[in-house]
Amino acid sequence: MNSDLLGAHMSIAGGVDRSLERGASIGCGAIQIFLKNNMQWSGKPYSAGEVARFRERTVPVFAHSTYLINLAATNPVFLRRSIASLVDEVKRAAQLGVPFIVMHPGSHMGAGEEAGLRRVAQSLDAVFAKTSKLPVQIALETTAGQGTNLGYRLEHLAEIFSSVKQPDRLAVCVDTCHVFAAGYDIRTAAGYRKLVRELDRLIGCERVAAFHLNDSKTPLGSRVDRHEHIGKGHIGLAGFQHVLRDRRWRGVPMVLETPKSDDLHEDVENLRILRELR
Ligand code: ZN
Ligand code: MN
Ligand code: MN
Repeated sequence: MNSDLLGAHMSIAGGVDRSLERGASIGCGAIQIFLKNNMQWSGKPYSAGEVARFRERTVPVFAHSTYLINLAATNPVFLRRSIASLVDEVKRAAQLGVPFIVMHPGSHMGAGEEAGLRRVAQSLDAVFAKTSKLPVQIALETTAGQGTNLGYRLEHLAEIFSSVKQPDRLAVCVDTCHVFAAGYDIRTAAGYRKLVRELDRLIGCERVAAFHLNDSKTPLGSRVDRHEHIGKGHIGLAGFQHVLRDRRWRGVPMVLETPKSDDLHEDVENLRILRELR
């Protein structure tokens, strides 16, 4: 059993508890899961056995929301569905004892960034109001800034933090591929320090609940989100070393979201590299 908080996103195919077996089989010290099929609005409830087995876990597990959810949707039907779906996910997370759900802030769909960020904050207020007793946070993920995606500037996340009624229900997830594609040059020590300084000034480093460790298939500032294996992309090993050796993140789980096949051999190799860098 690894307790170094380094791991990977694991499939829940066959039951949410199966993610634990998969993670254990490759020595994950942390696991990210989807709470339901990530391309569907709703899923079937967990079985009692599934929940019981999942709750016996010995590694930290956190969740990632489904990709369909857009808290900045301009279509009212889509927006209502997004809020309902996230409420359902918060309830599922609470049932499993999962402390937070990583989520992309949303896409403004042409309404503009200011309007989009306001909409995200209002939607989060609605979700938090409907789940007020549940000890589950939403960790806003930094994004690459594709299309009309919000969250590619730390200022966007800061704006959401300052707009919602309950900022204590929020946290942050830093995705290395996304910040790099968004223009934060973590390849150099100076560039990495600049990112951390801004993060601390705008939001607070203590709000960082998780990292996604992905290299980038696309160059600095490309605003394109394509994950690559660690050290094989435009970030390269030095960038990961800056993150992994930063003592601020002791206690913060870090997971891979890199391409993988059924036998998970790519995850094994990427985890080996990350552990060596640390
Ligand atoms: Zn994500
Ligand atoms: Mn990510
Ligand atoms: Mn991505």
